Amino acid sequence: MKSLCLVGRKRIALVDQSIPQIQYDDEVLLKVAFCGICSSDVLEYTSGPIFCSQPGEQHPLTGVRLPSCLGHEYSGTVVRMGANVINVKLGDHVCVDVAYGCNEQGAEPLCHACTLNYNNACARIALRGLGAPGGGFCQYVVLPSRCLHILPDSIPLDVGALVEPLSIAWHAVRVSGFLKGQTALIVGAGPIGLALILALQAHAAGQIIVSEPGPIRRQHARNLGATHVLDPTKFSSTIDLVAAISHLTPPFYEGVDVSFDCGGEQDTMDAVLKTLRLGGTAVNLAIWQNPKAQISPIDLTSRERKFMGSMGFCGEDMDQVIEALNRGIIPMERVQQLISSTVTLDNAIEYGFNALIRHRDRIVKILVSPATCEAQTEEESYEQSGEEYRDDTRRRNESRGSGSGSGSSKSSSSSKSSSSSKSSSKSKRHGDSRSRVHSSQRRSSQQRQQQRQQYYDQSGTAEMFDTEMNESDTRNFAMYSHEGSIGNCTDDPSDHTLV
Ligand SMILES: [Zn+2]
Ligand SMILES: [Zn+2]
Repeated sequence: MKSLCLVGRKRIALVDQSIPQIQYDDEVLLKVAFCGICSSDVLEYTSGPIFCSQPGEQHPLTGVRLPSCLGHEYSGTVVRMGANVINVKLGDHVCVDVAYGCNEQGAEPLCHACTLNYNNACARIALRGLGAPGGGFCQYVVLPSRCLHILPDSIPLDVGALVEPLSIAWHAVRVSGFLKGQTALIVGAGPIGLALILALQAHAAGQIIVSEPGPIRRQHARNLGATHVLDPTKFSSTIDLVAAISHLTPPFYEGVDVSFDCGGEQDTMDAVLKTLRLGGTAVNLAIWQNPKAQISPIDLTSRERKFMGSMGFCGEDMDQVIEALNRGIIPMERVQQLISSTVTLDNAIEYGFNALIRHRDRIVKILVSPATCEAQTEEESYEQSGEEYRDDTRRRNESRGSGSGSGSSKSSSSSKSSSSSKSSSKSKRHGDSRSRVHSSQRRSSQQRQQQRQQYYDQSGTAEMFDTEMNESDTRNFAMYSHEGSIGNCTDDPSDHTLV
């Protein structure tokens, strides 16, 4: 199968890799349907490695080396699963919580955040598709079932890929303490800023004001239902912008209840702080490229304002977004407005990444559809044999009295008959999986982590990149079907949010 990977400094490429196999009883094989290209992915391409490991080195937290599969906003279908998986069944459509914290790393003891289930704020946080295993720009990925969230039939898989960025916006609204009927300001209408409009509407916001310099993004904000949309470049100073926003809020409010900074610049931070009414809360979602900013504490103290951060999302945010979509509280058609285009994995570099760099002011979200790549016989065999694999692992567990999961068997007979002609190669794979799963039960968490890393190294081509190759060398490798390489890109102050 093909994977879109970071392969070196400012270099991404399509890499041929073997289809991953389930290693542990709690894992599933997911066929990726759609994976959104995030500004974090583009940043990794234009300026990386930032989140991924450095060339020739292991990632300090995940142990993953380059090439490292990118993509963390994805949906897919469960096509195989281990014997102990009970929270999903074969054929389920799911989206993925990509946090890779203490539990995923086998770290002991857990950090304080992880003990409280705030794995989004883990002290050792890493992310699948940004340095941790399990990136979504590929055709198949193996994941622990606990990071999956089931999409009901009402949510199509393309919208499912947007549950991740919607969850980031949802989390920010939730932790801000936003209340029904309150007023909000969003500074920066990139994908997360636009997702904030939908999250605030779902929380019954009384007024949603958006400040965005890009005309097309402003139009998107209007189309999604923002009540007021401003162009900050029309104001000679932040003071004038703040005065205009205050004028829009109800009499005696003198500002908004909650403001969200998606820009990560001194000007955008000044705007979200100074537009707050008495006791209001400013939320920073942006990852600042310049780590230092100036704050006048008296701006906070004099009006008892609060300034806080919001990091990614928790599993409950993802569940609440799915529920809001399912009940129409977040209108499906508005989410689909965020999808600018869908490209194949083969075209993802040119029509995805490079298009976003050239036309980011005109594009909101580009989805990559790995399933539209040329199918391979081996992959078809994997999907068809999924139920039989499940039955096989269940029998093995029952025979040793360890119990089993409760997965569906609705497609069992057709799966078996359709895969019978490939039973020989399939049996070999199953035999391999059984021995790995059996031996895994005796491993400590640290050993398990080492085994997992070895597996990912084997399935990729990490040994080829122990020393960084120059661009002409890498182009000669047969494993590359496409490759991108780039210098520094222009900065985009309206979209500096993480994941
Ligand atoms: Zn942790
Ligand atoms: Zn993202």
